[in-house]
Amino acid sequence: MDPTQAEEVAIVCLAFGFTAIVYALRMRRMARDVKQAQKTTEKALRRAEQANRAKSEFLATMSHEVRTPLNGIIGYSELMSDTDLDVVQRRYLERVQFAGSALLSTVNDILDLSKIEAGQVQIRPQPFSLVTMINNVTSIVSDQIERKGLNLELDLANDLPDMLLGDENRIRQVLLNLMNNAFKFTKQGRIRVLVDWVDHPSSPFIRFTVEDTGIGISETSKERLFDQFYQVDDTKASRFSGTGLGLTISKRLTEAMGGEIGCSSQVNKGSTFWFTIPYQATRVGESSRVAEFKPRRAEACQPGRILLVEDLEYNRELANTILTEAGYAVETARDGAEAVKMVTSRRYDLVLMDIHMPVMDGLAATAEIRALDLAASTIPILAMTANVLPHQIKMFGEIGMNGYVAKPFRKGELFEKVEACMSRAQTRFPVTVDDGGTQGLAYLLGPRKVAAAHADLRKQIVEMFSPGTVGSARQDLANRAHNLISLSSMLGFADLAEACVALEEACLDGIGVERAFERAATAATEMMNRSSVDTDKIASRGSVSV
Ligand code: ADP
Repeated sequence: MDPTQAEEVAIVCLAFGFTAIVYALRMRRMARDVKQAQKTTEKALRRAEQANRAKSEFLATMSHEVRTPLNGIIGYSELMSDTDLDVVQRRYLERVQFAGSALLSTVNDILDLSKIEAGQVQIRPQPFSLVTMINNVTSIVSDQIERKGLNLELDLANDLPDMLLGDENRIRQVLLNLMNNAFKFTKQGRIRVLVDWVDHPSSPFIRFTVEDTGIGISETSKERLFDQFYQVDDTKASRFSGTGLGLTISKRLTEAMGGEIGCSSQVNKGSTFWFTIPYQATRVGESSRVAEFKPRRAEACQPGRILLVEDLEYNRELANTILTEAGYAVETARDGAEAVKMVTSRRYDLVLMDIHMPVMDGLAATAEIRALDLAASTIPILAMTANVLPHQIKMFGEIGMNGYVAKPFRKGELFEKVEACMSRAQTRFPVTVDDGGTQGLAYLLGPRKVAAAHADLRKQIVEMFSPGTVGSARQDLANRAHNLISLSSMLGFADLAEACVALEEACLDGIGVERAFERAATAATEMMNRSSVDTDKIASRGSVSV
């Protein structure tokens, strides 16, 4: 190799080496960037997960705190409607019931949507009678439709099958939502429900159509109809009420069932909403498992002994009265530990178990009962609870409970669940009717009871804010705050109830406890002043050390 060639080779080698270094540096930078991006993504993911968890927790708490006092409102007004009332009282009561139902349906909508978003809604196909389901839905709304002076027309194709395989509850929910909307947004004319077939290359679909002659929807609004919380315009929304969630939920449910939903409409002429579900035939001989529920009457019912476990006196009395009047023999326990003791010394057909209780909660008590070395270990246990988020319900099953009754419950729902569980139970005992529970609301809500409830609330407040307890552990303070929530809201001390919710949350999170305690103490003092009671025993605020 001559010197020139050697020089050229050296230059090429140098260039190559230089390129390799630049490349290596670039690779290192890229690797660093990728790592950085990975870190940022992981951080964002963690934040999103945290936010999602916080949302679930918030929903669980909100659901619990709204449902617990709603249980009192709906339950007691149902009981009150069975008593002698004059016309004005009945009208007021109907308004309370209407407001209670509206609030419950809003809470249910929000929960439904969050369950759907979390992918926790399961479609459970079962054979059911199509015509019975349609009749059932129309009978729910027909009264109000007729009272408004509207005509209701039902048009079913001749060749519809008697039985379908599908999730009856979900189909009913969507149809009912469309019919309620048609009713809400139609002043005069008619509502027509049409059920027929739609041909599809793979398999036929059943189509449900709801037509109305109402206010209609403009082209621009139509595009957003199925969006969350969307209402065509705020003025109309406030006039007609609603959450703007019904159509979103209907769309998600229909799609989860393999169908579609849509609408056509003309302003001031009317709207047509429709949804389809794929047709699935039932196997020959398979019949509906959904029997029509008839509430049991005292004289007709099977004897059965129930242990009702509930710490809140008002919820306990409510369920006790309803069940006793229906002919069940009811005994009560105030916490899980008492319940465990009672099932070991006496036989029951069923335990209705609250979850959130002092001393021993419903989950721990169920676990103890299931671990017993006695026949009582197999007793059916139903959770009776305002905690109804999917992960909570899953936990009830895992711990060994046989089902749950969601608070607030209606009489019919409570009987249905109790009946289903009792009919599976093997043992039967003679009924011993508890006279104390049969006296109804007049007894429950008489002035003596209300006075006693006030006294109870005052006592709990004094205990909670007395100088001896302000330094108590956070968990203890959270429990005390929790116990005050239902009682104070039931007696109309909304500020105190809210302050207790905030205090319980603060104690559980370990954040802002002092401020929350101060707020609760202020609300408690106001409550005491309002019920003209000496407030000396309330601890001076600011001395809290938790
Ligand atoms: P909500 O009725 O609870 O507000 P929906 O999601 O069921 O919520 O409906 C969203 C909006 O769509 C309603 O607020 C209303 O503006 C409009 N809408 C739904 N159905 C009809 C109908 N049949 N006629 C006119 N407008 C309707």
